[in-house]
Amino acid sequence: MGTNGLKRIIGSNHIIPINLPGAPAGINRYPEPQPDALLRALAFEYGVERQQLFLGRGSDEAIDLLIRAFCRCGQDAIAISPPTFGMYAVAAGVQGASVISVPLNAQADFAWDAQALLAAATAAPVKIVFVCNPNNPTGGLVAADAVLELARELTDQALVVVDEAYGEFAGIPSLAGEIAAHPNLLVLRTLSKAFGLAGARLGVLIGAPEIVGLLRRIMAPYPIPSLCATAALAALDPAAGAIRARRLALIISERERLSAALAAHPKVRKLWPSAANFIALRVDDAQSLWCTLAERGVLVRDVSHNLGLENCLRVSVGTPAENDRFLQALA
Ligand SMILES: *Cc1c(COP(=O)(O)O)cnc(C)c1O
Repeated sequence: MGTNGLKRIIGSNHIIPINLPGAPAGINRYPEPQPDALLRALAFEYGVERQQLFLGRGSDEAIDLLIRAFCRCGQDAIAISPPTFGMYAVAAGVQGASVISVPLNAQADFAWDAQALLAAATAAPVKIVFVCNPNNPTGGLVAADAVLELARELTDQALVVVDEAYGEFAGIPSLAGEIAAHPNLLVLRTLSKAFGLAGARLGVLIGAPEIVGLLRRIMAPYPIPSLCATAALAALDPAAGAIRARRLALIISERERLSAALAAHPKVRKLWPSAANFIALRVDDAQSLWCTLAERGVLVRDVSHNLGLENCLRVSVGTPAENDRFLQALA
């Protein structure tokens, strides 16, 4: 019996057998814990096996579960390279794991320091190293060779988790293909960014089947609402592939256009090359510029609170019209 049969036995006790008129078909039933059709579509999308995929409520849930599974409260640690995505430290804090910071090199366009990470991870009881690639909020990339080398050095010691939330915008191969050769390497992907499904809360962890199996055992019982699974299947439909590719190409070309315009802009002191769908830039007074832009109807993110990003804003690449409006508001 597969999980389908099991679900029917479990669900049959609790559900009402008659659906309300107009309600989506099957909404009165508990969803599959890991919807098989969606696993298949995602395995195809990412070029991996279904048993290498953990499907969660956004990759945020996978981050949370990983830390719960591998870090003991008050004893173990994660390592991160700030400025980076905030959720790693938030989830570590909830679990009572400590956070070892190995900052990106602000003097060298936020270059990632694999040697320093290795030293830090070896000196402390680090169980998970998070590598955000492209990095949020700076947009920079990490060399694949260096990540794989780090994973090899940390074999049997720590997991190396590569967060590819913005991978589609970077135009580089995913490290998911390296997992079979590096059992402590994991990759995070999400449907929230390039697929435009942030509201559906769907993200995946790709890794060795043993680790995926462990997360499946400790996850909430029915994490993926069936409506979200249906929305994701529609977005992943190969028939929509051409539309998705055009949308992605437009965002990438707009990123380049916006980067060039900003690099030449008198208000911009510094701009970091971005492989994602946002651009980080330094201005003289981020707070006042943020207010001016907001008054003109343009919302950007003030990222000045991040290490090394004093007076910096992060702007998301929008439609050509939105980007024009941003440039006008900046002038
Ligand atoms: C947005 C984002 C995520 C989380 O995405 P969800 O799948 O929506 O939880 C993970 N990592 C990075 C770097 C992000 O920017």
